[in-house]
Amino acid sequence: MIIISIIVAVAFWQTRGDRDSLRHITLTTEPEGIMGTSCQLVVVTRPVDEELAVEALTAAERVLRGIELEVSSWLEGSQISLFNEASAGEDVALSDLSHTILSHAREAWRETGGAFDVTIRPLILLWRGSADSQILPTTGEVTRAREASSWDLIDLRTGWISKRADGAQVDLGGIAKGYAIDRAVEAMQAAGVEGGLVDVGGDLRVFGQPPDGRSWHVQIRDPAGSGVLSDLSIASGSVCTSGDYTRFNEISGVRYSHIIDPRTGQPVVDAVSVTVVATSALDADIWATTLSVLGPDGIGSLPGSVEAMMIMQTGTSRERVTSSSFDTYLDRITP
Ligand code: AMP
Ligand code: MG
Repeated sequence: MIIISIIVAVAFWQTRGDRDSLRHITLTTEPEGIMGTSCQLVVVTRPVDEELAVEALTAAERVLRGIELEVSSWLEGSQISLFNEASAGEDVALSDLSHTILSHAREAWRETGGAFDVTIRPLILLWRGSADSQILPTTGEVTRAREASSWDLIDLRTGWISKRADGAQVDLGGIAKGYAIDRAVEAMQAAGVEGGLVDVGGDLRVFGQPPDGRSWHVQIRDPAGSGVLSDLSIASGSVCTSGDYTRFNEISGVRYSHIIDPRTGQPVVDAVSVTVVATSALDADIWATTLSVLGPDGIGSLPGSVEAMMIMQTGTSRERVTSSSFDTYLDRITP
């Protein structure tokens, strides 16, 4: 059963015109245990539509939990886990949802020249194992895991997936959240609320009427501490951030990113925080991970409407690199 607790019902404000019909309320929930991270759902609507707002929050939460159940590689029994555990040649059934996300992932692999690659799970497992044993992988181990990480070893068909080598596995950690956020936003919109936000672990998408009546404000965490790096202001769309400051492997006192460069099999270095603004959370999520791999050179490959800010750190020197129109999102009101 889904339990909704309305923990905030604030932000009444007045816009022009008739007092009662133009007031809005903001309802927020913070459902726990979604995709192993924090989650915040917000809807903005007229007071007479409060029931609708609760429905919208319930629907969005249900969507997020449903997607996680099917595609998380952390959950035993998810379709992705069943595939990961399968032997070569074994057909594993896929729902439309899993098939759609995997198809987007394969498309992103082509579009990014292989930098975004969900088949790198053998490498992910290798580096995770190294963090457990505190012994760096050998060159031979990295080479073998790279060879097992390939779309060539995966046969994806409507309704089914199979592998050509026992070791092939996928990890949708760099794309599933974005996909799920988009579907949750659609569920809110279908419920008929006037505005909303879906935030899963700091990756988010907003639409429509913002709580303050002007625009949605998004704060980007400073990778070097607990402060704020940038304040963004957006009317609608998604903001996703990839970085090595929340999740990483530590081996002999050195931090290694959880993002792997598929070209080398090594964890990425230098890109400590990459923030992407795009219309869909799917694109923002994919490109935040991709730019972490490609570095500033990747900015030239961004699709037209996608903007990015990268914080590059080499030793103690830090550089902020942005795409041409990223700074139009900087919030000029908040200092
Ligand atoms: P994100 O936080 O969206 O950048 O996603 C990071 C997660 O994506 C990692 O924890 C891995 O599960 C997965 N991942 C790591 N490297 C890659 C890569 N090169 N392409 C696609 N997914 C990746
Ligand atoms: Mg991502």
